[in-house]
Amino acid sequence: ILPQDDVAGPAPRHQTTQVMVGNVAVGGGAPIVVQSMTNTDTADVDGTIAQVAALSRAGSEMVRITVDREEAAAAVPHIRDGLRKRGITTPLIGDFHYIGHKLLAEHPACAEALDKYRINPGNVGFKNKRDTQFADIIEIANKNNKPVRIGANWGSLDQELLTKLMDENTASPNPRDARAVTREAMVQSALLSAARAQELGMPKNKIILSAKVSAVQDLIAVYQEVVRRSDYAIHLGLTEAGMGSKGIVASSAALGILLQQGIGDTIRISLTPEPGGDRTLEVQVAQELLQTMGFRTFVPLVAACPGCGRTTSTTFQELARSIQDFIRDEMPTWKTKYPGVEQLNVAVMGCIVNGPGESKHANIGISLPGTGEAPAAPVFVDGKKFRTLRGPTIATEFKALVIDYIDQ
Ligand code: SF4
Repeated sequence: ILPQDDVAGPAPRHQTTQVMVGNVAVGGGAPIVVQSMTNTDTADVDGTIAQVAALSRAGSEMVRITVDREEAAAAVPHIRDGLRKRGITTPLIGDFHYIGHKLLAEHPACAEALDKYRINPGNVGFKNKRDTQFADIIEIANKNNKPVRIGANWGSLDQELLTKLMDENTASPNPRDARAVTREAMVQSALLSAARAQELGMPKNKIILSAKVSAVQDLIAVYQEVVRRSDYAIHLGLTEAGMGSKGIVASSAALGILLQQGIGDTIRISLTPEPGGDRTLEVQVAQELLQTMGFRTFVPLVAACPGCGRTTSTTFQELARSIQDFIRDEMPTWKTKYPGVEQLNVAVMGCIVNGPGESKHANIGISLPGTGEAPAAPVFVDGKKFRTLRGPTIATEFKALVIDYIDQ
């Protein structure tokens, strides 16, 4: 038997300064927060309310909305009101670029309704004395007692800073490659902006940092360096992650490594949705990443074998899918009705090889008959054989047993 400390686990969480975003704590040892972003036109009040509600219902603990023009800024207080009327208090974050200072100054109700402002230091300057845009946003945030996220992004990196670092690198006796200099520019863009915000009177417990990059290795290097040099609360995300499995794999690889190293207080999985696709997928992936790594529990996990030549029919895949969908759909209700239900483990297995064993490890599990096996599906509850299901109603009956189990 291995001694306990031979089992590798995640590194201790990097100690950061806690920031309250509305009623949600970020950093300072708080649970890692899942957030997402709408893709509606924010000026479309009803459409944005509907999507924020869907993301919240799926488990997004904060939602960011674009505030890109006058109409969007004017819509924000109405969106906040509409959500309150539906009983949704999920913190709303305004995503500002270029003219955020102007929109916030001219729409005080928008500044008040939002719970956090996202500033992109790459397109809101502060080094030029004539350029007061950054200072204006910080002043409005301070006046309204709101936190900010200073979000550097590889795709809109501060060009003035990058050019300065490139010039310094060229003149140095040991020049680094351009990629290393760009990584350094990302780190400095975030940290210099945060330091400037503090000079302008913003306390550290109002500042969250991010430094998003689209390549996994660059992202890991940049975030490692940001946390080595600071203790600001950290928002993690791989930018422009991409569509489908590529976006999920790249985000999970990058964020998984950083989370394992104790880095990250809130995460967003930035997926490009399929046309007409479900925006809530990014919330599901974020939750599953945190849950499968053992950092948080959100929904009961369904363990299912991959299926193989021993699987007799599609019943197995259909059952696994329908149990998973059913659990996810019911979770918003179950969460209040059955405290702790998210700890539940369900197994849906395809044959006798691993079926009974895996089902016994779950709270409730079923082993469907494989090729050559008798047409019977034993169900296991709390490690013991409970019942055997047969015939065309196996799926329905098993679902009912899951509900019974949760009820009890
Ligand atoms: Fe194949 Fe059976 Fe293993 Fe499932 S449990 S992958 S059906 S051998």
